[in-house]
Order: sequence, then C-alpha cells, then structure tokens
Amino acid sequence: MSERVHITEVGPRDGLQNESTWIPTDVKVAFVEALVAAGAQAIECASFVHPEKVPAMADAAEVFAALERRPGVRYIATAPNLKGYARAREAGCDAVAIFTAASDGFSRANVGMSVAESVAGFDPVAAAAAQDGITLRGYVSTIFACPYDGEVAPEVVRDVALQLLELGCYEVSLGDTTGVGTPAETGRLLDVVLREVPVDRVAMHFHDTWGMAVANAIESLRYGVRRFDASAGGLGGCPFAMSATGNLATEDLIYALDRLGYESGLSLDAVASAAEMIGSRIDRPLPSRVHQALASGRKG
Ligand code: MG
Repeated sequence: MSERVHITEVGPRDGLQNESTWIPTDVKVAFVEALVAAGAQAIECASFVHPEKVPAMADAAEVFAALERRPGVRYIATAPNLKGYARAREAGCDAVAIFTAASDGFSRANVGMSVAESVAGFDPVAAAAAQDGITLRGYVSTIFACPYDGEVAPEVVRDVALQLLELGCYEVSLGDTTGVGTPAETGRLLDVVLREVPVDRVAMHFHDTWGMAVANAIESLRYGVRRFDASAGGLGGCPFAMSATGNLATEDLIYALDRLGYESGLSLDAVASAAEMIGSRIDRPLPSRVHQALASGRKG
C-alpha cells in the first residue's frame, strides 16, 4: 500500500461557501493560488450554482478567469445540473463535482429531489462531460446520519457511490455532512463500501463538528483509504449542526499525516499561511487546532 495520500483541497469552495462574510474575487483567487503553491494538486475553486442560492459563489466564472493555472493541478468546480455544468466548462475547469446524498430527506432539502431523482438527473451531465473530456467527481452527503431521516445504512452509501462511479466519476467523496461520525461508524461504513468499491476511487470527507475528523481520517487510513478532502483553516461551518466547526482542517490532517509517515505533498507551513491570509477576512477565528497552536507560538 502506497504511503502517498491525496488531498483534495475544498477550502475555496466548500469552505467559503459556508462562511457568511463576502470575500472579494481577487482574495479568492489569491487563496487558491496560495494553496496550489503550498502543494495542492486537486482543488475545488468555485461552485456554479444559482447565485441567489449561494451568493458567496456568485463570482465563480470571474475566479476561474483570473486564476494563474499551474500544469498538473486539477482545478475543480461544483455544479448542480447541466446548466451549472455548462457554465463550469465554459469557465475552463478541469473537473466538475456533482452532488447527491445517501438520504432522501437531505437530498430533498438540498436540491428538491430524492436521491434516485438527483442521480438520474446527472445522466445528461455525465454524457456532456464524456464528450467534452471533463472529468467528474462525485459527492455523497450524509454518509452516517441525516438531519431529517436519522441514521443512514452503509449499504445505501455503497449503492449510491457505485451509481456515481457508473456515471463516470473518477472518484467518489463520502461526506459526513453533520460531522457526527466516530471511528466506529467509519469502520462499519468502510467494511461495507470497500467490499465493492475500489479503495483508490474513494475519498473521505469528514467534518469536525464533534472533534472526530482527524480520528476518522486515521481510521480510514487503516482501511487503506488514501484520499481525503480537507479545507484550509477548517473553513466552512456545518449549517445543520449549529456549530462553528465544519470541514476537517487541511493543516490538522497534514500534521497527523506527517507524523504518521504519509506523504501528502502539501507544506504545513504554506497551507497555514494561506489559511492565515483568508482567516483575516472572515468574521470568526479559524477553527483549525493546528492554526490555533501555531498562532499561540507552539512548536509541533
Ligand atoms: Mg464539507
């Protein structure tokens, strides 16, 4: 098993989309470029959703137009439907991320459709992406629990993940949207999922709401998972948990990976500087524990 770990940096999209402060386009662009300079090789830059639905992403096309692109880096945009996909392709992204969930309650609240309807709705997106040579990344939300439907069965997550791979996704990101999972749930899920889904097509997307994100990532490593999503500074709240903490912080993950002997290709110091820059623009302290330790002058 390779000791290389692949991180998809989601701060500029999943992170900033869930922050209440408006970030100017040039700052978003500088943030993406700083994270790429820090070693990010896959990065979610913006979302092509309706600007009324997510005002923080209204300048998605402008962000892509202004980005200084580096070869070998995958610049990802998210899109909810064919219209969003067309805008993302027009903007010049390398990959488009599509979203569904493992529970109908969340899917209906999020996109007004059941899981099955939302997956069926991606057929034309997948067809267009195949024709355009755009790679697709899939997301499955609510892998452990749904704020509307309660507990989610691992078999449902497995089946939705397989459907997204069937659509042509190069990777499926499994998201603990409410951040309630512990290593116990993580192990139970991976026991089921990895029996049918190849481990190199699975990324884990943890939220730190209950402080379990790094622990869950380490449990996933034990199962052979080498792909994770993380957000610089821990940007991005969890709207359903009424909590200030959302995404697993990239710095927190890198700190653990470095000590465990895994190679992420990302510089902890450089990610921390990028987070510091964006942190000065938002209206609350960054939740990343590593960020707080560094800010207080601690040496790792
Ligand atoms: Mg997230």
